[in-house]
Amino acid sequence: SVIVDGSSGLVFRSPPEEIQAEYQRLASDHQRLDREMQSLAGLPAETADGTSLSLGGNIGIISDLELVTKYGADHIGLYRTEFPFVIRGAVPSEQDQTELYTRILGAARGKTVCFRTLDVGGDKLLASLDYPDEDNPNLGWRAIRVSLELEDIFRAQIRAVLRASVHGPTKLMFPMITTRKELQRAVAMVDEEKAGLSRMGSAFAGSIPLGMMIEVPGTVGLLPHLLDLVDFASIGTNDLIQYALAVDRNNPKVASLYNPFHPAVLKLIQVAVESCQAAGVPVSICGEAAADPKCAVLFLGMGVRSLSMNPGSVPRTKALLRTITVSEAEAVVGQVLTMDSSEAIEAWLEERFTI
Ligand code: PEP
Ligand code: MG
Repeated sequence: SVIVDGSSGLVFRSPPEEIQAEYQRLASDHQRLDREMQSLAGLPAETADGTSLSLGGNIGIISDLELVTKYGADHIGLYRTEFPFVIRGAVPSEQDQTELYTRILGAARGKTVCFRTLDVGGDKLLASLDYPDEDNPNLGWRAIRVSLELEDIFRAQIRAVLRASVHGPTKLMFPMITTRKELQRAVAMVDEEKAGLSRMGSAFAGSIPLGMMIEVPGTVGLLPHLLDLVDFASIGTNDLIQYALAVDRNNPKVASLYNPFHPAVLKLIQVAVESCQAAGVPVSICGEAAADPKCAVLFLGMGVRSLSMNPGSVPRTKALLRTITVSEAEAVVGQVLTMDSSEAIEAWLEERFTI
């Protein structure tokens, strides 16, 4: 027999009795916790003072939607469209994509799905694409940079999302925007593809909000010159942390430096949220930091009302947010932003909140 511990990454081959017993206990604890979490699924996502929140799930494959339902996420804040491309090792045809996106919208059963256009390159390479040899792939040819260059692939994906959009509430967003020109071109292509579909008599939804991801520190400074082009923005903390702190998000050697509680990261997020508020553009957070309930409290205090995370983390985050008022969360932000290290901030939050 073999025990695979997905939390620690340990595998035990032919484990002795004591280890088996210990893992049986852990497994039943885990099941009990899971049942408790599921019981939260039906409770409204709101703060202790009744401010309503939207807690979404991030998905990559259609079966993730079962978890969205199981854990009570109320929308899909991020559908990473690259997985079907990577799994097939080839670029799926427009028709294949339309069918897949239609199935996703059907399985979402009326919940809004935010489609994020292809984010390949960096750590997600597509076998069928010829990547340049890059010293720093995460600083190289990835995400919107690839899409704007491989225009045919990008336009086919846009058309597929548009065509599927008649099957459920759809949003579309672009990853890794760093310049106004990129965003203008992406938005223009959506308009052009809509016009093309109309000419061909193909239907698409009347309203498909367009959004940008905020994943690069430089982009935060540029937001006042970007936000007039979009209907919403979503902060991707996974990349924002990596780029703000110069820490490769996949490198275990520097993993201890990768921390959402770093004061500079929190400040960047605060500035991003304020810029969106000043421009009247709804902002959400779809990086995994949203899955840490302590971070979620900070985001709430900064003015964020919509978070999206791995679906399994929705109940825990919801449970904590239901115990706190907006003004308490604002006071928490005021307090932590006076501190000078992630360790100090995290320890202070740990002490204040028992999760
Ligand atoms: C992010 O960067 O936070 C994000 C949500 O995108 P991904 O993890 O797919 O890079
Ligand atoms: Mg990202």
